[in-house]
Amino acid sequence: MVHICFLNISYLFVMNTRREFLNKLGLSAMAAPMLPDLLNRIPYDGPVLRVAILGLGGYARRVADAMQSCTKAKLVAAVSGTPAKLKEWQSKYGIPEKNCYNYENFDTIRNNKDIDVVYVITPNSTHKDFVIRTAAAGKHAICEKPMALNAAEGQAMVDACKKANVKLMIGYRLHFEPQTLEVIRMRKAGEFGKILFFQGLSGFRAGDPNQWRLNKQLAGGGSLMDIGIYSINGARYMIGEDPIWVTAQETKTNPAKFKEGVDETIQFQLGFPGGAVASCLSTYNMNNLDRFFLNGENGFAEMQPSTGYGPIKGRTHKGELNQPIVTHQTVQMDEMAAIILEGKQPPVPVDGEEGVKDLKIIDAIYSAVSTNKKITLTL
Ligand code: NAD
Repeated sequence: MVHICFLNISYLFVMNTRREFLNKLGLSAMAAPMLPDLLNRIPYDGPVLRVAILGLGGYARRVADAMQSCTKAKLVAAVSGTPAKLKEWQSKYGIPEKNCYNYENFDTIRNNKDIDVVYVITPNSTHKDFVIRTAAAGKHAICEKPMALNAAEGQAMVDACKKANVKLMIGYRLHFEPQTLEVIRMRKAGEFGKILFFQGLSGFRAGDPNQWRLNKQLAGGGSLMDIGIYSINGARYMIGEDPIWVTAQETKTNPAKFKEGVDETIQFQLGFPGGAVASCLSTYNMNNLDRFFLNGENGFAEMQPSTGYGPIKGRTHKGELNQPIVTHQTVQMDEMAAIILEGKQPPVPVDGEEGVKDLKIIDAIYSAVSTNKKITLTL
């Protein structure tokens, strides 16, 4: 623990930078997380991760807007198949012409020394090729969830990034969300006792029947790929183990809208090595379904909303969760910058292997639905 209460606060403003401040204290940058309030008042002068966003749709725009408040990450480039969107992004986010690419000339990004990482935010079926091309160009990759259509594709992406010696991270923004991290801290500290049960409810009503999310070729499935994955990933970080078996059942009320291979609603159960079970619902047919509940021998945590853009709200047997409310994507991108630039270890992994684990579970859930059998898992 670092004690700095002896410092006169005004002294901080005489120094220009965080680095200078830390040097004066005889601390390395690694000590920075211990001094968040004070450091927030001193301009950051360390290295900045220079980010290209590939695919300029709805979520990409949310990430780009959130990145305007980042300290360690900066949006500097854009990749799109639509020239008009590139023009719009150039003027809105100050992206220079030389940092704009289309899907044909994208591979030449390898010659651009002003870009460190490509964040792939396109429909699911395109993630694999874009990430592999990113790795081949020698750039780090961030990829949206689900990282691919199945575990085999995900593993190919992990292998390609390893071979190219670049990092691969998945856009698991909740892994940096303060209420979520507090529940994980409490679970690790044993405050819930032995974990017995998790319930994850993840859903919304999918509107437009012609959107890519309801197209098996582009989405790889239905609600499970898009929103159910939050309950899958959440079950793992809330319980703190990887499941060893899966059972699942599908319900379809509107087969005209949710065609063959596009799941409308799936209920699934996961069994964990410590004896806990998870019971989850994934759906494209109910709104306001965003709830996690964790039960242990000595306590509980419930979060609602649990995975939406926030604010995440919740309480435990000890009272309300009252961690800071943050913009998820701002924190995510700053933390991912620290992972790449400083080798920081995230509290919950966000690497490609983490994405593959979720896809192995998704593969097993689909297999349990089609065979009506309990599927054993080794992650
Ligand atoms: P969107 O439809 O709003 O945007 C997709 C973009 O990809 C569009 O600009 C489209 O032009 C482009 N695109 C590139 N290749 C395409 C192709 N072959 N077919 C169709 N479009 C193509 O979708 P979105 O909501 O931004 O989702 C994109 C990705 O981000 C998905 O993988 C989704 O799961 C993920 N996502 C993550 C979060 C999160 O909170 N982490 C939230 C929303 C979406």
